[in-house]
Amino acid sequence: MAETLSLPGFVNAHSHAFQRALRGRTEGDDFWGWRDAMLELAESLTVEQVRVGYEQVYREMLNAGYTAVGEFHYLGAAEAHAAVEAASEAGIELVLLLAAYGRGGIDRFRQGSPAEYLEQLEELRAAGVRVGLAPHSVRACPRDWLEELGRYAAAESLPLHVHACEQPREIEECLAEHGKRPIELLADTGCLGPQTTVVHATHANGAELDLLRDSGSTICACPTTEADLGDGFIPAIRVLHRGIPLCIGSDSNVRIDPLEELRELEGIARRQDGRRGVFEADALWAIGGASGARALGLESWDEIEVDLDHRSLDGVAPEHLRAALVAGCGGDVVVSPT
Ligand SMILES: [Zn+2]
Repeated sequence: MAETLSLPGFVNAHSHAFQRALRGRTEGDDFWGWRDAMLELAESLTVEQVRVGYEQVYREMLNAGYTAVGEFHYLGAAEAHAAVEAASEAGIELVLLLAAYGRGGIDRFRQGSPAEYLEQLEELRAAGVRVGLAPHSVRACPRDWLEELGRYAAAESLPLHVHACEQPREIEECLAEHGKRPIELLADTGCLGPQTTVVHATHANGAELDLLRDSGSTICACPTTEADLGDGFIPAIRVLHRGIPLCIGSDSNVRIDPLEELRELEGIARRQDGRRGVFEADALWAIGGASGARALGLESWDEIEVDLDHRSLDGVAPEHLRAALVAGCGGDVVVSPT
């Protein structure tokens, strides 16, 4: 019988499950080229494909050690229920972060008004689905949408997740339209606060990071996706110095491995700071678990079992286990629960 150890599970605070299908298919393109392929795929998906495909992706997440996921969903209302069903079938805790999309993208992403969006959200809540608000981005949501959603999230004490500062072009467009950078606009429209998670913040400047710190907002880093899409690096050291809470997400699901996300995060910090052990092992585990749960409004999430007989743990002393898992192991050290 293999020797195992129970540890806190990981929380995947940002996923678009359908994008898993794009891995390996769009090499050579930049972010915007990848986005075209993503939109084409999104347009083609049926409700049944969402149900079946998401279940498979959620099983992969469980097998790699994620026991809860925030699905940032923009494929439509019926598909939201299919995602919930898929998660329940797979056995992963899911929070449906329903995207609000006012403009751009493709038809199926968009609601006609903030009221129509909130109706969709309330319908999911009434069906017992754990939800969060997700104004997609400052690209997709005009100012009045952001204001209304920020108000609603605060009044209902619900998580609010939003993409911001992933790509320089998004910042240029926001400056041209509003005379402000994306995170400044989010602050202005009441979208920052302790229930808010800003996804990426890759190109956030010092003033924007100060706004995140002062409002108690969280940043969700998605290092494997940010690397894959050529987004850039999270300003890990500047985030750490300000004490801004961090969590992780598998985002495009090009990789499904929480240990790799954490290793990337620490690797970026080491490259930026020229020293080792920037985030301590326990801090990384909190980023991978508790912090993501808080970002999703979850009080509890399942534990995982780690296979102590796994070849990648040969010769590791018990006191170095957590650090060794992040430094030198993949998600396959987790005993598959399915
Ligand atoms: Zn995303």
